[in-house]
Amino acid sequence: GEKNSFGVQPTGSIHLGNYLGAIKNWIDLQNTYETLFFIVDLHAITLPYDTQQLSKATKDTAALYLACGVDTSKASVFVQSHVRAHVELMWLLSSATPIGWLNRMIQFKEKSRKAGDENVGVALLTYPVLMASDILFISMQSDFVPVGEDQKQHLELTRELAERVNYLYGGRKWKKLGGRGGAIFKVPEPLIPPTGARVMSLTDGLSKMSKSAPSDQSRINLLDSKDVISNKIKRCKTDSFPGLEFDNPERPECNNLLSIYQLVTSKTKQEVVEECLDMNWGTFKPLLTDAVIDHLHPIQVRYAEIMSDTTYLDNILAEGASKATSIADVTLNNVYQAMGFLRR
Ligand code: ATP
Ligand code: MG
Repeated sequence: GEKNSFGVQPTGSIHLGNYLGAIKNWIDLQNTYETLFFIVDLHAITLPYDTQQLSKATKDTAALYLACGVDTSKASVFVQSHVRAHVELMWLLSSATPIGWLNRMIQFKEKSRKAGDENVGVALLTYPVLMASDILFISMQSDFVPVGEDQKQHLELTRELAERVNYLYGGRKWKKLGGRGGAIFKVPEPLIPPTGARVMSLTDGLSKMSKSAPSDQSRINLLDSKDVISNKIKRCKTDSFPGLEFDNPERPECNNLLSIYQLVTSKTKQEVVEECLDMNWGTFKPLLTDAVIDHLHPIQVRYAEIMSDTTYLDNILAEGASKATSIADVTLNNVYQAMGFLRR
């Protein structure tokens, strides 16, 4: 069937916004496409990072995805650095990538301006070529690539690069070798994943819940304990209007907390309105707390199970890596041939 892939940064920490707004929906796509989830550890070294943390964060992230519902009978999970084809294909593609294209990438410009030229590794510049190789080795056999808003420019570069390689190396010569209709790569189409709700910060109903917000009080992490969750909700920002309501622009916090309640209980908006209309914060907050804790409980239990069994995760990642390697090697071999290498 059609293949689809999701690259995930090895951050090891995910909040309710990431989960309800994105991850849950991505995972649901495993029922439609044969999906490969991969932890992009090679991307994680493009900015200064902690070598003591990388492997733990990689494992934690893989375990969290599994705990959130990745079903390994339908989908694979692997670690980017376990599949050498990523880097190998990147080298081949980088020879066909004009430097000007990379210099124009907004993320590179922003991040390198912040850090200063002497502190920025070349990998930060060439990172989009690695991303292109992630995408193209899978899209060889599929048509879609899910991307977030912030990665659109990089996907556009991937599309241009695929066309350029098809043009440079996929012409007549390629046809003689029996390639598919002269094209080396399928030019991937963006698949904008179905977006879920936008979850806002607990300390400011007008800004989104975010990993990088300095205060941990502003978000609920999937692995927060009951006490931590209860404490965060106790201290979260509210207002002094009577009753509770959705969609009042003067009450963004109220709207957010009701929305979170709706999402974690899977109730309809109407049901929540009827239930909570006459409540005050003193009655609603404990209700919300229990609902969030109940919703996260099975994820946390599953996560603990996965982490307590040292071989379970290793086996899944090993299986994922061999699956991805077999897909990637087909692509890689085609590219080597098209570029005229002597094959062994
Ligand atoms: P950062 O602050 O470092 O940008 P983040 O919390 O925004 O971190 P990302 O890793 O940028 O997290 O995003 C991962 C996914 O979660 C993306 O698809 C993004 O759109 C989604 N997402 C992030 N924050 C929210 C939120 N508050 N509500 C809904 N979806 C969100
Ligand atoms: Mg973000």
